[in-house]
Amino acid sequence: MVDWLPFVTQYPLTEAAGRTNYLVGGMRSDIRGLALHITDGHSELQYIRGHFSHPAKGHPNWGVSAHFAISRNGDIAQYLPLTARANTIDSYQHDQHWYSVENVAVRGESLTPQQIASTARLFLWLVQNKNVPNTLANVATDRGLGYHSMFHIGHPSCPGQGVIRQRDQIIAAVAQALAGEVASIRRDLSGI
Ligand SMILES: [Zn+2]
Repeated sequence: MVDWLPFVTQYPLTEAAGRTNYLVGGMRSDIRGLALHITDGHSELQYIRGHFSHPAKGHPNWGVSAHFAISRNGDIAQYLPLTARANTIDSYQHDQHWYSVENVAVRGESLTPQQIASTARLFLWLVQNKNVPNTLANVATDRGLGYHSMFHIGHPSCPGQGVIRQRDQIIAAVAQALAGEVASIRRDLSGI
């Protein structure tokens, strides 16, 4: 079981005093997909870890968290091992089946080309290693590439219509990577 992806910078979260912001070993084996979020700010990736230590609104004993964040220039941070459940959507039934990625953007802002490429890289890994289909997910029971507001819990403007539409580019990039892989396997086999 891989706990940390090979192409990320690790900023491991620690439990904030008196608060729970993730659950060790809480991730289920049947992963439904990757949910897109925006940070609604322009923080550096290492400082996002600090935001996760703040209490959740109305829940002083709970903190929020996410597995991943991607900077405007495409750097990927990972904050929790893949086996831990994050407190991103409902801190319970949804979060135990979905990985979440926070792209650094304010409301109304689109993802940069680098963020699209890095989100595709992350999603490709889930497609290849977690049996997630390379498709759009539009409701909580779907599988594939989803987004926060489709769960209708908290933040209705996360990640916003522009980012929701940009999923098409992410799916296309992953399809291209998968097709390239098939082509290279065919080339290998044709040499036998
Ligand atoms: Zn969100």
